[in-house]
Amino acid sequence: MTDFQFVDALGPEKVLEIYDPATNLHAILVVDNVAAGPAIGGLRMAPDVSKQECFRLARAMTLKNAMAGLAHGGGKSVIAADPNMPESEKVRLVRAFAHAIKDVLDYIPGPDMGTNELYMAHVRDVTGRAVGLPVELGGIPLDEIGATGYGLSVALSIAAEFSNLDLDGSSIVVQGFGSVGQHAARFLAQQGARLVGVSDSRGARTCPDGFNLEKLLEHKRQGGGVADFSDGELIDSEELLAVPCDVWIPAARPDVIREDNVSRMNTKIVAQGANIPASPQAEQMLAGQGVLVIPDFVANAGGVICAAVEYHGGNQSQAMMTISDRISANVREMLERSATESLTPRAVATSIAHERVRSAMQYRHTG
Ligand code: NAD
Repeated sequence: MTDFQFVDALGPEKVLEIYDPATNLHAILVVDNVAAGPAIGGLRMAPDVSKQECFRLARAMTLKNAMAGLAHGGGKSVIAADPNMPESEKVRLVRAFAHAIKDVLDYIPGPDMGTNELYMAHVRDVTGRAVGLPVELGGIPLDEIGATGYGLSVALSIAAEFSNLDLDGSSIVVQGFGSVGQHAARFLAQQGARLVGVSDSRGARTCPDGFNLEKLLEHKRQGGGVADFSDGELIDSEELLAVPCDVWIPAARPDVIREDNVSRMNTKIVAQGANIPASPQAEQMLAGQGVLVIPDFVANAGGVICAAVEYHGGNQSQAMMTISDRISANVREMLERSATESLTPRAVATSIAHERVRSAMQYRHTG
């Protein structure tokens, strides 16, 4: 497999592979496309990250940022290392990475798996640029305010119109009760939805009448897990997929909805909080089952929209307003075209994002 298989008309523009024997740093940066502006994309730290993963994630950011109408292209960086290493070692590694990318001015790093706002503060200290910063540095705490969960609830309020579903009284299932999952449940509860199934890495529960959400959120804040919560019935984690509901929200790992299990789903809408939670084949099968899928790069753009607002000096309420405006307009356009053109929402969204990147590219000339 060569790297060139990832090259097409959109990018990538730049690929940097970094080895630093002094700190044992092995990192990769892919700047995919910067036609709309400097690329924003997370810095991921995990032991098993690969170059291919970095290429795919960078392209996903190009499409997500274009779809969200941001003045930013897409990129991604990965450090191959255990994120649970001692703190001082991790800071040293992240700072070494920041020094290595200091002159790649068209890449703005943000937090991702294995990094957070504290590491972004170190990246900014070295390079002068980063998003997802601590509040003291002008950051908007996107996980604390639930930027992505809020965006999911906005997407769902539009999707519900197209599915003849009233969110008030609807039932939702959330797989992965972390930052995205908890806030999505909280914002949807404000619209009258009830949480009937939930899981985290330690277990899954169902409660057909609806969990007491405040009690469950408090239980999580105290360090509890779904498995040791008092209400509802403990179920096997695999069974969460089959819990009957109106809306099923994957908000944990990739590839949880596959050809071998998709037919067990009993829902009207799948709103993808996690990145790549379903295989392309499973998404086709869901479409065949009449299930509306709101694809990841449309539904979970709240976090990057918030990061872009932060970068341009905006505040929290401007971020929430921008998330609402952009995601509702995009979901509406995507679902209208999906109905008239008989294409899946993902096919329509991909074509809209490609069109936007290509039209931004017409202003770029060499020389
Ligand atoms: P998080 O770490 O806060 O929460 C993840 C949750 O998933 C945790 O509760 C964890 O226990 C649970 N989990 C892990 N493995 C599981 C499994 N096998 N089954 C059930 N639950 C499991 O992470 P997050 O920030 O909420 O991100 C969740 C997903 O959303 C990730 O795929 C992430 O890439 C994606 N995402 C996050 C954001 C954001 O703003 N945080 C933005 C876009 C996409």
